[in-house]
Amino acid sequence: MASTRLPDYAPDWAFFLDVDGTLIEIADHPNAVNPTPRMKAIITHLRLTTDGAVALVSGRAIAELDSLFMPLTGLPAAGLHGLERRDAKGRIHFETSAESPLDDAKQVLRDFTKLNAGILLEDKGTTVALHYRNAPSLESAAHAKMHEVLCRIGEDFELTSGKMVVELKPSGRHKGHAVEEFMEEPPFHGRTPVFIGDDITDEDGFRVANSMHGYSIRVGETIDSAARYCIPDVEAVLSWLEHYHSHHWR
Ligand SMILES: [Mg+2]
Repeated sequence: MASTRLPDYAPDWAFFLDVDGTLIEIADHPNAVNPTPRMKAIITHLRLTTDGAVALVSGRAIAELDSLFMPLTGLPAAGLHGLERRDAKGRIHFETSAESPLDDAKQVLRDFTKLNAGILLEDKGTTVALHYRNAPSLESAAHAKMHEVLCRIGEDFELTSGKMVVELKPSGRHKGHAVEEFMEEPPFHGRTPVFIGDDITDEDGFRVANSMHGYSIRVGETIDSAARYCIPDVEAVLSWLEHYHSHHWR
């Protein structure tokens, strides 16, 4: 059972933060989210307090995170669930993948969305997602179509599910790998990882944080989660992070 009492603040933390559903509210369309100046100020302050040990760990592409977090660009970040990673020095690490089978998959999925109103196709380049938030009754149809496509393009790919979304991605990389890599490098190395996320794809991050004697915090529902702590919603996350900064260590 996850604890609702969050850990006592300590000065040596490194933060790994999911974005959608954790720092910003989920919207009907991935492009419709609205990052607030307050949230960006919190990230800036956290970076100052932790010597820069704050990384975004998202299913979005890094380029998309940059435009979302403007004017904060170049933040350490893992995009596409860990397939791409930008370290604290700004170097990009990228998992190369076979693009061509995915091109075929995208066409099949595009045809599928034309026939199923309300389902949204999100093409992130290296991965592709079907969102059914606006057509919840089509959940099983969306999953079935993705399974069909996965069978067609083979074992180098896998499906990952989230809130009202199913995504096809190259297999073998997840958010937890990105956390492990950040933790080997400054300014993260030697700190205690604190991973906050809200969805199934965050579970790998929770497990890695746990294995490093860090803290795993899930936003909202914690049934079947590896997270050891839970926090009710985005507002609570922002307040908690705000207090971390205002808690005076010095
Ligand atoms: Mg999320």
